[in-house]
Order: sequence, then structure tokens, then C-alpha cells
Amino acid sequence: MAREPPAETRLQPAGLEVDFVGERQKRLSELLAPYPWDFLLGSVHLVDGEAVDLEPGLWGQMSVDDVWRRYFAELGDLAASGLADVLAHPDLVKIFGRRPAPEVVDACHEEAAPAIAEAGVAVEVSTAGLRKPVGELYPDAGFLARCRERGVGATLASDAHVAHDVGRDFDAGIEHLRSAGYETVTVFEGRVARQEPLG
Ligand SMILES: [Zn+2]
Repeated sequence: MAREPPAETRLQPAGLEVDFVGERQKRLSELLAPYPWDFLLGSVHLVDGEAVDLEPGLWGQMSVDDVWRRYFAELGDLAASGLADVLAHPDLVKIFGRRPAPEVVDACHEEAAPAIAEAGVAVEVSTAGLRKPVGELYPDAGFLARCRERGVGATLASDAHVAHDVGRDFDAGIEHLRSAGYETVTVFEGRVARQEPLG
């Protein structure tokens, strides 16, 4: 007979980063449903099955302008999908430092921020971007400020893939949040958000 694991051996908190995978989304949601997640990070790594964060990937298929527009449209759809509590590295598309003209970047941010606010999901400030070719925090300062203005919550993460990157550059992440007007950070329990003082 199956027994409950002792409380101290349960994962606390339990979170997972999950991809936004188009038509396979329903199947993914079914696989996730049985587990008591505290939070789910949602990510756009793929657009039309092509990677945004690998080369050539999507970059070999369309112009920089179109990669950005398609990426942010997917991000808005992910926010609205209910899959995720937090949008991970929300402007991952800048990873290689390739950007369209400033007005196109602005339009992408301007369109995504209200969609994120309306969906009630948080955005992740990730220090991982500092370790990528772009050498910047995710997301862009202006985009983060727009999210703040609209009452979108924010989390802080290092997206560590190796132990020594856990919590790396958090001072810069906290400063980034403060500069955008955040005084609290969003934390989750049982997929319910609450605010904790920043730093
Ligand atoms: Zn990711």
C-alpha cells in the first residue's frame, strides 16, 4: 500500500519550468495536473517548433523584426493560457543581442505588458541573461517598468543549470527590480501568490 512520504522529505517548494508547446499543450497540462506544484514557470523557447535561443533556429527562418514580433505574440498567448504562474526570462528573444529598431522593440513590450497584467501572471527577473551573449538581465528595464506600472508581480531567479550559479548576481537582480519600482517580490505556495519584501 502506498504511503505518504514524511513531510520533511517532500519537495518544498515544488516548481517546474514548462515550455509553451502549441498543440501538445493539453497533453502537457494532463501530465502536470496530478502533482501539488507551488508554482509553474512558463517559457517560450520555441516558436512554430523552431528555437529562439539556439542558432540558426528561428533566426534562420525569418527577419529579426519577425522573430521579435512572433516571440512576444507567443508570450502573450502563454500568459493568457493559464498554464503558468510566472513567465520565465520574459524577453529571452534578446539572447543573442539581435534587436529590431527601437520602435519595434517598444511596440513588442507595449503589446505584451497589458496581456500579462490581464492574465494575472508574474514576470521573472532572471540573472541568467548576464551569462548569455546579450550580457543583460532579463527582462529589459523599460519592459519591467511597464509591467510594474500595470501591477504585474515579479519574481527573482538565477536559472542555474549548475550549482555555483544558484543565486548568482542577485544583487544586480534586486537593483533591477527596485529601479523598475518594485518593493516586493512574488512568492508562491500551492500556486497562490503572495508578496514578500524585496532583498
Ligand atoms: Zn528557459
